[in-house]
Amino acid sequence: MTTGRGAGCRQHAAMRLLITPLLTLLLVCGAAQAQQTLAPGVTLLPGGYEAGHQPDGNSLLLKGEGGWLLIDSGRHQAHTAAALAAAGGDVRAVLNTHWHLDHLGGNAWLRSQRPGLQVWASPAVARALAPDGWLDRYRRQLVEAIPSAPAEQAAVMRVDLDLLNQADALRPDHEIKAASALTLLGRRLQVGVETAVSGGDLWVLDSASGTLAAGDLVTLPVPFFDTACPPAWREALARLSAQPFARLVPGHGPVLSHADFERWRTGFNALLDCADQGLHPAACAAVWRSHVEPWLDDAGGARVDGMLGYYFKTLLQAPPEHRERFCRRP
Ligand SMILES: [Zn+2]
Repeated sequence: MTTGRGAGCRQHAAMRLLITPLLTLLLVCGAAQAQQTLAPGVTLLPGGYEAGHQPDGNSLLLKGEGGWLLIDSGRHQAHTAAALAAAGGDVRAVLNTHWHLDHLGGNAWLRSQRPGLQVWASPAVARALAPDGWLDRYRRQLVEAIPSAPAEQAAVMRVDLDLLNQADALRPDHEIKAASALTLLGRRLQVGVETAVSGGDLWVLDSASGTLAAGDLVTLPVPFFDTACPPAWREALARLSAQPFARLVPGHGPVLSHADFERWRTGFNALLDCADQGLHPAACAAVWRSHVEPWLDDAGGARVDGMLGYYFKTLLQAPPEHRERFCRRP
C-alpha cells in the first residue's frame, strides 16, 4: 500500500463521536492507486484514502464467463468507476464481503451503470439497512449532524448519506447464509461466512487462481475493531489459515502470501493476548509492530499507536461487560 502523509490528513474527532465504525480510518490517508494484475483474469484495484475523505477498501476483479465478478465495490464513485474500467466496463456481478460502506457503497452507482447487475452478500447487509439496523441508525445520525457540522465534515458525511438514501440499490439480490461452494460466472469459489469484524463477514477463495479475498478479516495498518468480536475473529483467522490459497487480498493493505498471512495472524493473536493480559496499549502496539513491520508504510506506521490506543480503550481493554458486546448479534 503506497500512502502519503499530507497536511490534509487529520482526524475528524467530532465525526468519530458521531459513530465509531470506519471513522477511525480517517486517521490514515493516501492516494488512490493503479490496478494490478495478480494472475490471469485476476485484477486488484487497491483501495485508497484521499486526504479529507473516508476510505475505499480493496476491490478484486475475477474474469468469468460473459463478464467480471467484482468483490467489494468501494465507497466513492471514482474508485468504483476505476474498478468498472479495469473490467473493460463489463462487471456482471458483485459480492460484498461485509456491510461497511467502503466495501458496499459502490453497489448503488454500479447498478445505475450496469442494469441487471446481480449482487451477493451475507444477510447482515439487509439487516443493517433495515429500519433501525445499524446503517439505518447511522443514516439518521448523519441527517441530524450534517446541518451543524463544519462544511468539510458535512461534505464527508454527505457522501455516506447519499449512499444510505439509496438503500435499495445497496442491498444484495442473493444472500449467502452459510459457508458454501459457489460458482459465479463460471468461476468456482469457496465462500466462508464469519461473524467477526461485522455481523457477517464473507471471505472468498477463487479456486482457479488460489486468490483469497479476505475483506476486513485482514487489514493494515491494524485490525479494525470498530464492530468486532475478538474471540470469533481469532477462530475465523484459523479457518482462513487452513485454506489452500497462494495469495490473500486484505480489505486494506498490500497482497499477502500465505506465509505473510501467518505472520500477520501471529501478530493478531499476540495483540489480543497482550490486551487480555492487561498490558499497556503502547507495549502491545510494539508487539503488533514487530510482526507487521514489513508492510507498514510511513503513513500507516505513524498511526498504529493512535488507532490501537483507541481500540484498547473502546473495546480490547474496555470494562469486561463491553469487550464482547459485538459478539451478541442477531
Ligand atoms: Zn474496510
